Amino acid sequence: MEPLSADHPLVVRVRRIKQTLRADDVVGTPACAADPDLHHPDRVSGLGCPDHKAERKAITVCQACPLTDLCLLQELREVGGVEHVLGVRAGLKQTARQALYLTLAKEGLL
Ligand code: SF4
Repeated sequence: MEPLSADHPLVVRVRRIKQTLRADDVVGTPACAADPDLHHPDRVSGLGCPDHKAERKAITVCQACPLTDLCLLQELREVGGVEHVLGVRAGLKQTARQALYLTLAKEGLL
């Protein structure tokens, strides 16, 4: 998997989140709270690869979530390795977040 360019929209998004996210902005309940397994489409399929219908549904749930910026930043900071970036978070598939993680780690931006 190739890292993203420094001006890729996801890298720019994370830079913006890091600069602007304040504790006061973190208000609300995670939209996935009722069904956290939904955000692991690989588990839904039972095949080790994402179930695409479940993946699309999880992305839709994230799009209605008030905590997407926090969710993305928290995972990238806390996950501890690209192999642990799994499932859907912040409306993004795991492949997109894995590339983002590798880029941020390479740039020292985690
Ligand atoms: S953005 Fe994060 S907290 Fe919100 S629904 Fe998606 S996975 Fe859950």
